[in-house]
Amino acid sequence: MRIVILGPPGAGKGTQGVRLAEELKITHLATGDMLRAEVKAGSELGRLAGDYMDRGDLVPDDVIIGMIQSRLTSDSGMVLDGFPRTLTQARALDEALTAADTPLDRTIYFSVSREELVQRLLNRASEQGRSDDTIETINRRMDVYEEQTAPVLDYYRSAGSVIEIDGTGTPSEVFGRLIEAVR
Ligand code: ADP
Repeated sequence: MRIVILGPPGAGKGTQGVRLAEELKITHLATGDMLRAEVKAGSELGRLAGDYMDRGDLVPDDVIIGMIQSRLTSDSGMVLDGFPRTLTQARALDEALTAADTPLDRTIYFSVSREELVQRLLNRASEQGRSDDTIETINRRMDVYEEQTAPVLDYYRSAGSVIEIDGTGTPSEVFGRLIEAVR
């Protein structure tokens, strides 16, 4: 199965994406995790990406697409989390999947109010200390989401295939809804 999870920062894409991939025994591909691994390793890509991430800006499309392209079609299935985040990325994904004749099976959108998202990210900041979870960066990421990623949701909606899931409640409650949507 090939599944895309869309949603704003803090909606629970990562938490749910990991669980879903485990449940379905497919790969969890999260561009945010891949980028943080590059930053930690001190690679050239990590140095380039880290500045964008700390500001709350998106890493440029060519960098992201170059990083993930070879992994988009090599597996029997995947949960894509945090990608695509721009229309350019969505089109690149379409092209790769069309060329490989492996279409998406589900596009899932987690909806959560902005107020709750900000609260969740501030809580995560005190628990995990992620360098992009400061109030300034959180607000910037929300604005970037509205400007650059919300159009991706419309793009998939106009193709007629988005399943919207209420992202509020406990992680188990949300996971229950997610499994329903996937089965
Ligand atoms: P969140 O959903 O909480 O913002 P992520 O871990 O998905 O967390 O992303 C963290 C940061 O990594 C983003 O703010 C952005 O800078 C960068 N990033 C992740 N995925 C992408 C992507 N597909 N395109 C551009 N930048 C990305």
